Amino acid sequence: MRPNRDELIILLSLSDPDEVEALYKRAYDVKKEYVGTTVYFRGLIELSNICAKNCYYCGIRSGNSKVKRYTIAKDEVLAEAKWCFEQGYGSIVLQSGEREDAAYTGYIVELIQAIKELSGGELGITLSLGEQTEEVYQKWYEAGAHRYLLRIETSNPQLYAALHPADHSYHRRLQCLRTLKKLNYQVGTGVMIGLPGQTVADLADDILFFYDEDIDMIGMGPFIPHHETPLADYSQSFDPAQALEAGLKMIAVCRIALKDVNIASTTALQALFPTGRELGLQAGANILMPNLTDVQYREGYQLYDGKPCLDENASLCKNCLENRIKSIGETIGYREWGDSRHFQGRRG
Ligand code: SAH
Ligand code: SF4
Repeated sequence: MRPNRDELIILLSLSDPDEVEALYKRAYDVKKEYVGTTVYFRGLIELSNICAKNCYYCGIRSGNSKVKRYTIAKDEVLAEAKWCFEQGYGSIVLQSGEREDAAYTGYIVELIQAIKELSGGELGITLSLGEQTEEVYQKWYEAGAHRYLLRIETSNPQLYAALHPADHSYHRRLQCLRTLKKLNYQVGTGVMIGLPGQTVADLADDILFFYDEDIDMIGMGPFIPHHETPLADYSQSFDPAQALEAGLKMIAVCRIALKDVNIASTTALQALFPTGRELGLQAGANILMPNLTDVQYREGYQLYDGKPCLDENASLCKNCLENRIKSIGETIGYREWGDSRHFQGRRG
C-alpha cells in the first residue's frame, strides 16, 4: 500500500526523545519481520575522485582545484577485491566521480570481468558511477554487474536545481534510474537529509518517490558541509547531533513505510558519531559498506568534512565492525549476496 504522506510527515517530525526511541523500536520490529537481523557487507572501493560534474555540495566536484586527483590502478583494485572475497564479503561496490568517456567506461568493463573471474563469479558487483548512457549500463550489466546505486539526491526537482549547476539534470537522473531498472539491475537510490532548503515534507515525498519507483535498495545519509564547496557556509550552523537524528529518523520511517527493501547504514552517519552506523542498524538499516579503499587514497575522497577512518586500513575497519555488530546482537551474512527481498517480489 502506498504510504500516507501526512503520516510520514508526522513520523519524520517527532522530536520527543521517548517518541523518537519508540519510532526506532517500531522500525526495528518491522526490519526483524521483513528482512531479519543479518547484516550484509558491501566492500566499498572508491575507485577514482575524477569527476566531470560540479554538484554544489560535494567535496570532489570538478570545481575544487585543491583536491589531488587519483584513479586506482587495475592491479590494486583487483587485490582489494580479492581481499574482500577472501574475507567472505558477499559483494563489492565500485564507486567514483562521474566520467562518461570511453577510456573510463571501458576500464570499468575490464574491472568487472576481472573481479568476476577472480571470484569464480561469486562476488556480487554493485556500481555507483553516476549517470551513463543506456549502452554503457548495458555493457556493464553484461560484464557482470548486477546492482547500481544512483541517488536522486532529492526528489524535489526545484531543490535539485538549486543544488546543481544548470547543466545537471534531474530529469536525466530519473531516466537513468528507470533505464537501470529496465535493464534488470537491482536499483538503489537515496537522498541527502538536511540539505539547505529541504523540508520534512520533501523527505516524506522522497519516501513516496522510493515507493513509486519501486526501488530495491536505499542509501541515504545526512548532508555534511564541505569547506571547499559553494555550501561551505552551512558548516557554521551545522549541528552533528541534529543531523544524526534526522538521518536515523529517515532510515526508521523508510523501513516502516517500505518494509522489505535493503537500507544501508552509511558512512556519513559514522562521520557524525563514532557508532553512527550501528545506530543506523538499530533504526532499521540492514546493509553496511565497509570502506576498502587503501588509506593512501582516502584523503582524496572527502565528499564531506570529517569522513571517518582516514588513517585506518581495511582490516582494522573489519575487526572493529565485527565487534560492533556483535555488540548489538546481530549477525553478519558472510558469503551471501544478500539481495534485496524487494527485488524478488517487485511490482514492475
Ligand atoms: N559520482 C557518483 C557517486 C559518488 S558520490 C554520484 O554522484 O552518483 C556519492 C554520494 O555522495 C552522492 O550521491 C551524494 O549523495 C553523497 N555526497 C556528496 N557530497 C555530500 C555531502 N556534502 N554530504 C553528504 N553526502 C554527500
Ligand atoms: Fe561528482 Fe558524485 Fe560528487 Fe556530484 S556527488 S560532484 S557527481 S562525485
